[in-house]
Amino acid sequence: MGIIKSASGNSAWRGLDYYKQNKVISYKKLNDNEYTGKVKGSNNVEYDVIMNIEHPRSSKCNCPHAKDRKVICKHIVALYFTIFPKEAKKFEEDAEKAMLEYEEYQEQLYDNVEKQIYSMSQGELQEALLDVLNIAPEWVYEKFVRDYVER
Ligand SMILES: [Zn+2]
Repeated sequence: MGIIKSASGNSAWRGLDYYKQNKVISYKKLNDNEYTGKVKGSNNVEYDVIMNIEHPRSSKCNCPHAKDRKVICKHIVALYFTIFPKEAKKFEEDAEKAMLEYEEYQEQLYDNVEKQIYSMSQGELQEALLDVLNIAPEWVYEKFVRDYVER
């Protein structure tokens, strides 16, 4: 939803932590779109948050990070997840799903690389190896020298 999409990844994850640590002290619904709340920051300072779920960028927090700026800080995110706990669950599930998809993609990619290597001719492989060694980081080049040139 709007608030989370408007927040940076860092603010979203830290806001989730704040929500789980029950850092939201109190909140009140102002109208259909706006909520106000008090959120405990580090050093136990209390910050005042006004959150607008219809227009996320009109949300406000008086912490140093968000004061006088149109940013969604972790305190706004913590308030959002406290009022809408299902969204916190969804946020975590989506992140988990994205990670599994990424891992699956990496495995698939590795399989494809292996298949490609076994399908290449000696000449193609020699050319490819020279290509890669030309731009490889020094340690890769040195490993090749150690393992195949100076042995
Ligand atoms: Zn804040």
